[in-house]
Amino acid sequence: MTKLQKEHNKDKIIQNLTAIQKVDRDDYGICAECEEKIIFGRLMLLPESTHCVSCISELNL
Ligand SMILES: [Zn+2]
Repeated sequence: MTKLQKEHNKDKIIQNLTAIQKVDRDDYGICAECEEKIIFGRLMLLPESTHCVSCISELNL
């Protein structure tokens, strides 16, 4: 595994942990920017999503 891949994996793990903490706080699936609900289909694809589709495109995340 290259150093870059390891860094990428670490980022993924951190994102997942953040998502898990959000579940604990009952704000999982809520956009961090506009506080609208993130559509379910997006959460299915990317469970660690912290922003809704419109904010992602505006913020270029
Ligand atoms: Zn949003």
